[in-house]
Amino acid sequence: MKQSYFDLYKNCSLCPRSCGIDRTVKKGFCGETSDLSINAYLLHKGEEPCISHKNGSGTIFFTGCSLKCPFCQNKQISQLAVKKKYYGIDQFIGIITELINNGAENINFVTPDQFMPHIIEAIEYFKRKKINIPFIYNSSGYQSLEHLKKTIDFIDIFLIDYKFADEVASNYCINNREYPSVAYNAIKYLLEKKGNLILNSKGKAEKGLLIRHLIMPTFIDNSIKVINNLYFDFGNKVYLSLMSQYTPFYLNDNLLKINRRINKKEYDEVINLVNELGFKNGYIQEFINTDDDYLPDFKRVNIFKQK
Ligand code: SF4
Repeated sequence: MKQSYFDLYKNCSLCPRSCGIDRTVKKGFCGETSDLSINAYLLHKGEEPCISHKNGSGTIFFTGCSLKCPFCQNKQISQLAVKKKYYGIDQFIGIITELINNGAENINFVTPDQFMPHIIEAIEYFKRKKINIPFIYNSSGYQSLEHLKKTIDFIDIFLIDYKFADEVASNYCINNREYPSVAYNAIKYLLEKKGNLILNSKGKAEKGLLIRHLIMPTFIDNSIKVINNLYFDFGNKVYLSLMSQYTPFYLNDNLLKINRRINKKEYDEVINLVNELGFKNGYIQEFINTDDDYLPDFKRVNIFKQK
């Protein structure tokens, strides 16, 4: 590992929280020290078709998170420390090798911010070995430009959320007013540097940016603002993945406005706008309001239910 990059754990600013603490001796806001912690890894067939493609995306779920949304569908590992397991760098490289040998279409790092020094070390190993496979940075959109500038050359595909464009919605739902501007600036930077997602002739993602947006109940104006920002600032060719699967897990009475699924009227309002504006690329998830098949349970051996 490049010592200069690994040293970032000692005065951590790997995310916009910029805790400035020494993670070799204590945890940051994200809940993690500099010991690499992973809950699970698998060939994931439930990502967008261009990501999972035929064999599945070689997905690695890190523990901890710098954003900690109260409704997070991965809350068991992002905040509740379920089945944490620590790995050295050689074991981590071994996990990636196993996924590649099992046919992974790509390597998909989920919520990787807090462990980027380890991830870069692993990616450099595979580059040195001339093993070419797309590496994916799959995260919240809460990434600083300073962090992205250090990361961008190692990553092929960015799968980035644009959860909130509206400060009031962001403050209510995730207690964070700065998220809208941080995510917007991250998307702007990534589009400038990487461009929109590019697929190969077989429909598999090769490089670029795929933007995800989860429609939240009540705050439909926020979704409208997200869509409008993307369309008017970046055009109708951005690669967009719109999701309807929001499920009010883990919430309490303090968050009544989002303590339900979205309804059909809310869904239609957002989808109609996307269609009216003529977005060219991406995915729209069907309206979901009755089951939880899309949601993981990290206590199970098989995290995702078989369909
Ligand atoms: S990655 Fe963790 S320790 Fe580092 S700045 Fe973010 S929250 Fe703080």
